[in-house]
Amino acid sequence: MEWTVIGGGPAGIAAVGKLIDAGVDPAKIGWIDPHFQVGDLGKKWSQVPGNTKVELFNRYFEHCQAFAFKSRPKKFKMEEIDPNETCLLQYVVEPLQWVTDHLRKKVHAKEEMALELFLEKGGWEIKLQKGSIFSKNVILAIGSDPKALFHPGPETIGLEVALDPNKLQKAIQSNDTVAVFGSSHSAVLVLAKLLETPVKKVINFYRSPIRYAVHLKDWILYDDTGLKGFTAQWSKKYLDGELPPRLERMLANDPAFEESLSTCTKAIYAVGFERRKLPILKQYEHLHYDDKTGIIAPGLFGIGIAFPRGKFSPLGHLEYSVGLWKFMDQLNLMLPFWQKYANA
Ligand SMILES: Cc1cc2nc3c(=O)[nH]c(=O)nc-3n(C[C@H](O)[C@H](O)[C@H](O)COP(=O)(O)OP(=O)(O)OC[C@H]3O[C@@H](n4cnc5c(N)ncnc54)[C@H](O)[C@@H]3O)c2cc1C
Repeated sequence: MEWTVIGGGPAGIAAVGKLIDAGVDPAKIGWIDPHFQVGDLGKKWSQVPGNTKVELFNRYFEHCQAFAFKSRPKKFKMEEIDPNETCLLQYVVEPLQWVTDHLRKKVHAKEEMALELFLEKGGWEIKLQKGSIFSKNVILAIGSDPKALFHPGPETIGLEVALDPNKLQKAIQSNDTVAVFGSSHSAVLVLAKLLETPVKKVINFYRSPIRYAVHLKDWILYDDTGLKGFTAQWSKKYLDGELPPRLERMLANDPAFEESLSTCTKAIYAVGFERRKLPILKQYEHLHYDDKTGIIAPGLFGIGIAFPRGKFSPLGHLEYSVGLWKFMDQLNLMLPFWQKYANA
């Protein structure tokens, strides 16, 4: 293979599409994912309300020629939603699955896990569960997992359960006191959904003030860290307004933290994401990616939530860009560099 993309989430889909747009012969592109079901977005987050406008999702689909979005057999539900509104992520998963199925027919797709990468003969040997592939260049789009904290005592509810209202309803009993850690988009969503269950009490342990995104003429202040849409409205009304009767908030370094936590029967950690374990790279002890270019090593590049681009806002804040359109935009910028930095 000339190029192989590891990961079939939104970033991997964009990477395959943009390689084809850049003139790489699809017959020389490999694509590896164990499921090809739109990554974590498809498997875990489809019931999550998005925080970006539908217009940005439309831009993602229409921007890449290889997606052939114009040839879709019918309009997707997402396209019936006002582009200035946000939507449940499931509406984005449907067209992403269609694009995945379309691209899989063009390239060499393998339903497998990449287990190991080995640099040799000016390229990468990718060890799979069954056999291996040699590829001159590799793009890692392997995604991230919710960060795991652990406090002994309360039973942990996984974030993928907490962010799915049906699963959450089943996981909560009326005698539960639930600890929710964090104050980001995911944490606020969890708080709002928990209070729709018969939960007895919710305690939100947090470290810093809520931050809100501000839409300006040409850019968004706190675009990647601030609350937007539903979570911003909810938070202004309840967290920074009047706390609902069953909700308590406490700083995580409050002297009463241990005592309060000991009253909790369940805990949900919504404290960010961390890069999923890389396929093993034998030659390198430390592996860093350049957060401005996505370059990891010769012929090895990273994209998506696992390798977000560090970007300065016009006021000088460094934020890490995550989101479908941002992945596409990063590829526009980075792929020309990657092609020059590629293994010969
Ligand atoms: C609460 C929440 C709200 C969000 N809201 C928005 C929003 O409003 N707008 C927006 O644009 N996005 C939103 N997102 C989605 C966001 O863009 C995600 O970060 C996105 O799913 C990341 O895509 P990815 O392709 O980088 O990773 P993933 O979707 O995690 O895909 C990674 C893929 O790589 C595969 N993989 C991993 N390791 C290997 C291996 N060794 N071999 C083979 N395959 C491997 C995995 O199986 C998976 O299929 C939201 C996400 C969350 C959690």
